Amino acid sequence: MKTIRTTAAMVDWSRTLHREGVTIGFVPTMGALHEGHRALIRAARLACDAVVVSIFVNPTQFGPTEDLSKYPRQLRLDRALCRKEGVDAIFTPTTAAMYPQGSQTIVTVPSLARRWEGDARPHHFQGVATVVTKLLSLVRPDTSWFGQKDFQQAALVQQLVKDLNLPGRVVVHPTVREADGLALSSRNVYLSTQQRRAAPVLYRALHAGASAIWNGERRGADIQRRMARILATESLATAEYLAVCDPSTLEPLKTVQRHAVLLGAVRIGTVRLLDNMLVAVRREP
Ligand code: AMP
Repeated sequence: MKTIRTTAAMVDWSRTLHREGVTIGFVPTMGALHEGHRALIRAARLACDAVVVSIFVNPTQFGPTEDLSKYPRQLRLDRALCRKEGVDAIFTPTTAAMYPQGSQTIVTVPSLARRWEGDARPHHFQGVATVVTKLLSLVRPDTSWFGQKDFQQAALVQQLVKDLNLPGRVVVHPTVREADGLALSSRNVYLSTQQRRAAPVLYRALHAGASAIWNGERRGADIQRRMARILATESLATAEYLAVCDPSTLEPLKTVQRHAVLLGAVRIGTVRLLDNMLVAVRREP
């Protein structure tokens, strides 16, 4: 497995493979790899001839009071996981390589970045959109994989790739969960034993919202209340938002018609957890 550290070497690697007719699958990550990332890598491995995983903790998507310096970094373990999964190359640029002195350009996707995570983390999505634009321009993949776990991010990336004609197809992979429903996340390591026990309440709240829809409830406000009621049963968890939204625009729905995405973010101690559930309305035969 090759380790690529510079942007020039990344462009070279991709260009050489394309010239040989090799298809490239790309999985962008911030490292601290877990089973969720592994699932994306396996999907890429199945679909493409060569797989490249980027490991880059992107400073521009962290706010000034957020956990950039504390974000888990474990390159040796990440490298071992990638090697075991048959990854062909990891791309581990430095911050200076990605943002050389004098770089100015910022990419924004205004409407999809406006609510939810965008409210909670004001510059987060312009950081994401900018780094994804740069990574896709360097790697030039045939297909790249993003996780549904970060639903708003995946929606924004799909829009970005379409709007800017960035290379490759985007595939959104379903969320990988622990047995008790908790979505895997690099931030789960920050949870104490007691907090870890409390954390699946977010999944249970979303599930209650989905069940309400499956049972015929269509009013967004009522579905939202059901989710909030479940969340309130866990004293360690504070809801930041629980919302019933249109899956394409992420605008809140007054009435669910064909489908909805239930979005949730909670705070447990200092840890923010995100999750979501996509729900299709059952049609009568
Ligand atoms: P991160 O390293 O957290 O930036 O995540 C890198 C990619 O893995 C993103 O596209 C995430 O949405 C995806 N991802 C993270 N956690 C999961 C999970 N539990 N299931 C599926 N994909 C995930």
